[in-house]
Amino acid sequence: MPILNSASELQSVATAWRRHLHAHPEILYDVENTAAFITEKLQEFGVDEIVTGIGRTGVVGIIKGTGTGRTIGLRADMDALPLEEISGKPWASATAGRMHACGHDGHMAMLLGAARHLADTRNFAGRVAVIFQPAEEGGRGALAMVEDGLMERFDIAEVYGMHNMPGKKAGSFAIRKGGIMAAPDKFALKIIGRGGHAAEPHNTADTIVIGAQIVGALQTIAARNANPLRSVVVSVTQFHAGTTHNIIPEEAFISGTVRSLDEQVRDLAERRIGELASGIAAAHGAQVEYDYERACPVTVNHPRETDYAAEAAMEVVGPEHVDTEVDPSMAGEDFAFMLQSRPGAYIMIGNGDTAGLHNPAYDFNDEILSAGISYWVRLAEHRLPR
Ligand SMILES: [Zn+2]
Ligand SMILES: [Zn+2]
Repeated sequence: MPILNSASELQSVATAWRRHLHAHPEILYDVENTAAFITEKLQEFGVDEIVTGIGRTGVVGIIKGTGTGRTIGLRADMDALPLEEISGKPWASATAGRMHACGHDGHMAMLLGAARHLADTRNFAGRVAVIFQPAEEGGRGALAMVEDGLMERFDIAEVYGMHNMPGKKAGSFAIRKGGIMAAPDKFALKIIGRGGHAAEPHNTADTIVIGAQIVGALQTIAARNANPLRSVVVSVTQFHAGTTHNIIPEEAFISGTVRSLDEQVRDLAERRIGELASGIAAAHGAQVEYDYERACPVTVNHPRETDYAAEAAMEVVGPEHVDTEVDPSMAGEDFAFMLQSRPGAYIMIGNGDTAGLHNPAYDFNDEILSAGISYWVRLAEHRLPR
């Protein structure tokens, strides 16, 4: 594997950064110590310009190459999760109830490693923007940075992201053109019927019977409304109603999630949930209050930039270790907002046979740091040739 020489040297120092960050997890936008650590490292590397407080607690470092050219953005996320770690590792979280269970500690260490190498070698024309983003885990930190002028302020032409993937061979890469991560939305339905005595159902509008029909009907969105070649998941995950055996409840509450890889299917699901629920309720003399919440868009890889990313990965680990047609994931990723504002691509790097993401036993695999660092460096040098 033609991993950068200096990346192999960087391996031990990046491991130390990664373990430090792992032991000190911070949540959502409250990543002040993490941002301070990153800022200090970027200063140490001689990064030309460091701007903090973008999107509240985001950090951007600008590294100038030799010669003028465009600016390429490389992004890592910084936040951890509200979870009790059980990895038992010596570098396990020092804070109860918080842990880096999604590997953002490793993402930061890889981007820091790349920043150090790029600042040392400057073997490119133009500028590299290393972007450290808060609040990926449900806080829309990527959107906060975009709305804070990230792309215009630093004149970013293309933007790239990377996430580790447990279950894929350590240090291998996987990518695809188009939708790679789903839009993770939520919906809630409140059914308002007419409660009464369970012995006199004819005098009620039974919200449990209505709710059960709605749950059944929602299955037809994937089975009968969406184009079978364009997948969508509609899962009901909560159904609350009633208090005891002899009362037909006045109200019922249903909620769940919609995952889609295509904005048209997403619109369709949103519309059909409302139509099915209100139609069924109306047929039984009840009403429905419907709420649909969009978390982040589909993460859509731009075709040309996907090729650039795959080529850089192939140079690092060889074509046999780069899957260019990986199945998309139905999980969400707020990097989608950055890809809506600039062309770019999001790649997965195998974390090997470890516990899954968001699992309390998960740990980022330090062995893949050098492959990740080398990927970032190759990509930047390719996109900014001298
Ligand atoms: Zn996560
Ligand atoms: Zn993550």
